[in-house]
Amino acid sequence: MTDTCPTCAVPLAVEEDEPPWCPRCEWNLDALAPIEHSTWFYRQIRTRDHRAGFRADKLLATGTPVRPGGGHGLLVAVSAVLLAVPAAAVVAAIWLLVAGPVVIGLLLLLVAYLVRPRLGRVRTILKGLYRLDADRAPALHALIDRVAAATGAPRPDIVAVEPGLWGAWTTVAGIRQRRILTLGIPLVASVERGELVALLGHELGHFANRDSRRRMLTMPARVTFGHIASGLRPSRVSGMERDLLGLYLIVYEVWRLVSGMLSWLAFAVHATIHVSAARDDRRAEQEADRLAVRAAGRAATLGLLDATAAFPLFHGAISGVARKGYAMAEWRERVALSRARNESRTGTLRQLTIRTEASLFSSHPSTGRRHQFVSALPDTAPAVTVNDAEWATVVRELAPYAETLRKELAEQYEM
Ligand SMILES: [Zn+2]
Ligand SMILES: [Zn+2]
Repeated sequence: MTDTCPTCAVPLAVEEDEPPWCPRCEWNLDALAPIEHSTWFYRQIRTRDHRAGFRADKLLATGTPVRPGGGHGLLVAVSAVLLAVPAAAVVAAIWLLVAGPVVIGLLLLLVAYLVRPRLGRVRTILKGLYRLDADRAPALHALIDRVAAATGAPRPDIVAVEPGLWGAWTTVAGIRQRRILTLGIPLVASVERGELVALLGHELGHFANRDSRRRMLTMPARVTFGHIASGLRPSRVSGMERDLLGLYLIVYEVWRLVSGMLSWLAFAVHATIHVSAARDDRRAEQEADRLAVRAAGRAATLGLLDATAAFPLFHGAISGVARKGYAMAEWRERVALSRARNESRTGTLRQLTIRTEASLFSSHPSTGRRHQFVSALPDTAPAVTVNDAEWATVVRELAPYAETLRKELAEQYEM
């Protein structure tokens, strides 16, 4: 027998190991499943973060204006100050190289080099990925061009495939600020054509909204204090264990205490900055979802979010057990079957993400809240539609990377 909601008297939704909740009024949806095998301290933080994240996602989904984004400006300012450090070091180093002492000048140059701003290197980012240029995947590139035109987004300079990834991402890297779009095969195998258009609309939407540039401007603030915190983390080995004696022991232990406190302080600053930046990121995701709707229409965008929420159900379908050369086709068939069979459960899983994905540290609003937000947008006709022949070609162009993944999965299975 299932329990019913205290206010609306409908049966509560249940998923394994999760506290039940009301599917209609969301009663108890903000309750977090008990966190096991962790310290009291971690549980406290996780519980508070979850509660606050849940509230933040809800406000975002209902369109309630959450304090206008002053956070971004502050982070840009902090980043500017942090960038001033290497800049000042370079100026001082040049002066010292001329006026001496030269050694200190060289040392300062080294410091400036170590704390230099990093734009990311295209080659490093593409490591382990497969570049998919227009000559090898003309249909996919043509589709991307159409989505770019429909959303007013710039097209990516590089399209790549990350075979094992259940998702997709974009970034901008290098001095030339090259736009990179990366697609994961399990995601491609899990969606229908309109949903892939929605996905491309969302990802290119990040280019259109210049989200990577916004991130880049705040990057020093986002990472520096984290580096400081981990650099200052004190050794776990005590002075006694190191057989230190007398003054050495005292100095060592005092340093361990002081660096521990400084590390903790730096981490607190890092966490605060991260939370503020993540709020900005979540809003950016919402704007990207608007462009997904423009490209693919509302229904297909909602379908994409549903597929994402149901990923846990598809894990068994995408396996090394597939005929050689037919991985993409077989996976697509199995996932489609699983989606049809679990249609009623998708709503429950989607709602559950509102609980499980809620965090102030998350760069995405939960899938369930994104679904609510998109549902409330006006429905417009899809700007990009894909015909049978075009869709078959796009799938065929991506199929070789499904084989790469199939081989990897089969090898893991054998081990
Ligand atoms: Zn209820
Ligand atoms: Zn996104």
